[in-house]
Amino acid sequence: MKKRMIGLLLVTVLGTAMLAGGCKKGSQRELSQMQSVNESIEPVEMSDSCRNSYEIFVASFYDSDGDGIGDLKGVDEKLDYIEDLGADEIWLMPICPSPSYHKYDVTDYMAVDKSYGSVSDFKALVADCHKRGIRVLTDLVINHTSSEHPWFQKAKSYLEKLPKGAKADYGKCPYLKYYHFIKDDTDRTGYAKLSGTDYAYEARFWEGMPDLNLDQQKVRNEIAKVTQYWTDLGVDGFRLDATTSYYTGQNSKNIGFMTWLDKTVKRQNPGAYLVGEAWTDSMTYSSFYRSGIDSFFDFDFAGNDGFIAKTVRGNMKADDFGSSMVMMQDRIAKNSETGIDAPFYTNHDMARSAGYYSQDDKGEKTKFAQGLNLMMSGNAFLYYGEEIGMKGSGIDENKRAPMQWTADQKEKGMTKGPVGMEKFQMKFSPLDQQKKDPYSIYNYVRQAFRIRRNFPAVARGEVVVDQGLSNDKILVIEKKPKDTSLSPVVLVYNMSDKQQSIDLRKMAFPEKKLSGVLTVNQKEIELAKDQLVMPGRSIAVLTRD
Ligand code: CA
Repeated sequence: MKKRMIGLLLVTVLGTAMLAGGCKKGSQRELSQMQSVNESIEPVEMSDSCRNSYEIFVASFYDSDGDGIGDLKGVDEKLDYIEDLGADEIWLMPICPSPSYHKYDVTDYMAVDKSYGSVSDFKALVADCHKRGIRVLTDLVINHTSSEHPWFQKAKSYLEKLPKGAKADYGKCPYLKYYHFIKDDTDRTGYAKLSGTDYAYEARFWEGMPDLNLDQQKVRNEIAKVTQYWTDLGVDGFRLDATTSYYTGQNSKNIGFMTWLDKTVKRQNPGAYLVGEAWTDSMTYSSFYRSGIDSFFDFDFAGNDGFIAKTVRGNMKADDFGSSMVMMQDRIAKNSETGIDAPFYTNHDMARSAGYYSQDDKGEKTKFAQGLNLMMSGNAFLYYGEEIGMKGSGIDENKRAPMQWTADQKEKGMTKGPVGMEKFQMKFSPLDQQKKDPYSIYNYVRQAFRIRRNFPAVARGEVVVDQGLSNDKILVIEKKPKDTSLSPVVLVYNMSDKQQSIDLRKMAFPEKKLSGVLTVNQKEIELAKDQLVMPGRSIAVLTRD
């Protein structure tokens, strides 16, 4: 309660600063636009009006015990940072025991990997997150297990003992049915041979990750036990790994399985949130919303070739970026009444964005791209380290480098990074330096998160493009929330690298008060006599009076 009042007070201060900034340049205006907005935040207290999600690779985040590997206590110690950044949800990449550094091959679904800590560390982390209004999602990796999982090991040792040419007796080893074993000596796509036997098994990613047989009721019962276990530990939902591989090439079966999964999890926790990874075309992942799963990551906009990067490079027109958002919104709405888009820009499988743009020494393109991502409707996801423009491309290990809290790699909490990670130089400064610079990538992202929290329509509004004012450089959209208690907002984007003037008298929407800004350098947005003057690569938030 106390926190909410502080939030409101700061918003009022912001309002005053903005008025002074918008109308005239005077002595009142001591703070820059960036700094003034940075001071304001409206706590959301677990409401559903916004979700700013922060993806964490635990091993590379913060090390609490000095072994060089990030851990759950380390995440707990950094909750002040996460909260101050403006995130209200964390997605932890897999934390269950696993032989790999990334842990996307689980050997025990109901435990925590020793290098990350213990189940009681996890409980403490969830409790501390909830005290701050931060939700916790864990990664649910159920397309496959590790080949070292006891289920697979039992099936494997049964088949290894089987005399050459003999048929497997599924009654004698129930775990055979947990996977897709076939008697086959051809090289079938997506299958790996079980050496020393006549059998092969489905393993879509690699031989160390045997695919589970999700048609089996026994496997579904195991999955339901797993989701119940983590629900009992307090998680607020799950990120679903590799949903297109549940039934490779059979999307109606994928939707069917996810319908079951959605019902199962929501029976256990009606408030649970599920977000699926379906790394495929948007026609397919929008159809997945039929399953009832709340969100799917919006791959069309993400990565080096996605709509965001294209727009920043000038290879996609401003108004086309707007119509793409509307198209996605329509596709989701066609498949679900409650589906919520999950925009993201990069994740642990993609090259980091600092390498996407040439001639970006000051990070202006890197910042603006984050603005385009974080101003999208839906539940926005940010991959750790992107808020400071960390680098990392090539092998996967490089994309999961240690969070750069400071330049001194020996400083407390700094992690070693995955074994096999190559040596490379970061392009932008570490966090401690960026914090001091109001125009850093960090402060830009922090401000974007604040705008999302202070103006719920940014995350919850339906996009309508102002066709009259939008063109190849300018995009003007209104966002109108379905929930009529939330006020609509207008976002004006100058996608070009030059200053542009927008005549607000010609705008189709009534929101004409400058209430929030995202600018990539010291040049500020000015509103005078209905003319909105915007520096290159800037975004303005307009509200009603
Ligand atoms: Ca550690």
